[in-house]
Amino acid sequence: MRAVVTGGAGFLGSHLCERLLADGWQVVCVDNLVTGTAANIAQLRQHKSFESMQHNVSEPLYLEDTVDAVLHFASPASPTDYADHPIATLKVGTLGTHNMLGLARAKGATFFLASTSEVYGDPTVHPQPETYWGNVSPIGPRAVYDEAKRAAEAFTMAYHRTHGMKTRIVRIFNTFGPRMRIDDGRAVPNFLTQALQNQPLTVYGDGSQTRSLCYVDDLIEGIVRLLGTEYAEPVNLGTDDEVTMLQLATRIRDLSGSSSEIVFKPLPEDDPRQRRPDLTRARKLLNWQPRTSLDAGLTKTIAYFRERLSPPGY
Ligand code: UDP
Repeated sequence: MRAVVTGGAGFLGSHLCERLLADGWQVVCVDNLVTGTAANIAQLRQHKSFESMQHNVSEPLYLEDTVDAVLHFASPASPTDYADHPIATLKVGTLGTHNMLGLARAKGATFFLASTSEVYGDPTVHPQPETYWGNVSPIGPRAVYDEAKRAAEAFTMAYHRTHGMKTRIVRIFNTFGPRMRIDDGRAVPNFLTQALQNQPLTVYGDGSQTRSLCYVDDLIEGIVRLLGTEYAEPVNLGTDDEVTMLQLATRIRDLSGSSSEIVFKPLPEDDPRQRRPDLTRARKLLNWQPRTSLDAGLTKTIAYFRERLSPPGY
């Protein structure tokens, strides 16, 4: 079995490539390295079933030989990254999805879309079930990501319905772990970097906004299980262990043994107030649930960040 993973050199993509290789797949990693990094896949290069190519999937991609699955994970995914690359974000979610659906169709492959909890926007329903249609600004700073992913879902369902293609859609909630870029601007990398350098932890707003943070290995397990189903409707994956951002900052500070103070900065525009997946569908369909506690996941992530932040030679 041969899988194409777009965004394969990114945080989630690289973990997914690693897992598919371990499960016996041949893996083709496609990444333009805008937000992904070669370092993320350095250890996979020795694997005889691993190939990688630098390519922007917003441009068509033609591949030789058989492909059994196309997993479309390419996209800037942190609010800072998609603010830095707004047009590329829109393009990879829309044109990139169209191109990868075309590739999957040409090869008779299953298409697997990495969608996002951002399709729910700033939700007025809590927790968020897959049946909720969302509350998204079409013109705000997050729209380039949110609307591109909503269009990506619409593309995927249209190809499924029109061409009878095998498609899957996962709505990924906040996920963290090793290989997050230390400067991607998200809460976990920011707080960790700040804590480990004894700098102030920057909590936006009053820190009462919530997220539910899933450890990467749990998410990847859910993704692999979803790939193995015949289920085309979207499925939420994440954890339902919800914390405020002030609780998260405090926890990261304590676990990393830091003496940093916590400072409050303005809340970014359209920042969702609350987020927690309703995981009923995933639990039932995949017989899956997140297993790693926030503390256990943070401890592993702290070890990775410590290594990344320590000067070479130490
Ligand atoms: N956040 C924060 N301080 C930071 C970075 C983020 O308080 O240094 C907040 C942000 O305002 C949001 C939450 O943490 O409410 C999660 O933000 P993140 O960028 O991790 O992802 P999002 O879930 O918003 O896509």
